[in-house]
Amino acid sequence: MPEPVAGRERTVARVPDAMPRAGLVDYHLHTPRCGHASGVPEDYVLAGLERGLAEMGFADHLPLLHMRDDTLSMPLEQLPAYVEDIVGLSRRYPEARLRLGIEADFIPTHLDRIAVLVAAHPFDYVIGSVHFIGGWGFDDPRYLDGYRDRDLYELWRRYFELLGDAAECGLFDILAHPDLIKKFGMRPQADLGEIYGDCVQRIAASGVGIEVSTAGLRKPVGEIYPAPEFLRLCCAAGVPVTPGSDAHSPEEVGQDFEMLPDFLAACGCREIAVYRDRVRDFRAL
Ligand code: ZN
Ligand code: FE
Ligand code: FE
Ligand code: ZN
Repeated sequence: MPEPVAGRERTVARVPDAMPRAGLVDYHLHTPRCGHASGVPEDYVLAGLERGLAEMGFADHLPLLHMRDDTLSMPLEQLPAYVEDIVGLSRRYPEARLRLGIEADFIPTHLDRIAVLVAAHPFDYVIGSVHFIGGWGFDDPRYLDGYRDRDLYELWRRYFELLGDAAECGLFDILAHPDLIKKFGMRPQADLGEIYGDCVQRIAASGVGIEVSTAGLRKPVGEIYPAPEFLRLCCAAGVPVTPGSDAHSPEEVGQDFEMLPDFLAACGCREIAVYRDRVRDFRAL
């Protein structure tokens, strides 16, 4: 372990034992460039090493093109520096098996421009996220008002339709936090089987993978994304699965990953998908 320096010791010392996490990867790490994360990227890598992750990858938010909000994503002009940071870190810490990813919002009106931005950089994988429904940032605590005059079932139907669209758009390797719409713990009192089934069918046919994210455990809903019922359908349909923490601070790297082996096994998932140069490979769990 490197010499502790000011600020680093605290970060690493809080990390619990690494035993149950061996073999897992965390492909969803952010950096402070997005305007809502803390800690320097190097500390995320050190935390991941301490936790025994087999691989890790940064996937900071790709600059938003339909709006500018420096608290949601890095400004466009910082994207090259982000890429340089991560490539530099991956050279300094070969043992981290660090990958360069990006989390891109699915914005249906801007797919051509997103594609150009993504193609301009040597990403190992692209995570696609649905954070907006018709321009409304439904997972943003600042816009919780939006839930007031919307029908929850219709909202969920629309969310999973967009997730299917994101799968089919051809830009992404992995779909982030696949049932993010449950973030605030509001869900329709209805059978979701049809919504899940239609969506999973589209994801499976598209060939993209999904993320299993522990981030939901830190949110009001208090659950892993996606729900076991959704993940079971995905695994039965052969959809590749990649773990992520959506860490926005070094302490969150690999957080709650000790739950993942049992959770994945209970859902019929026996291997995880990893990526290099946008080519997928599988690791047995
Ligand atoms: Zn974020
Ligand atoms: Fe996201
Ligand atoms: Fe994220
Ligand atoms: Zn995210």
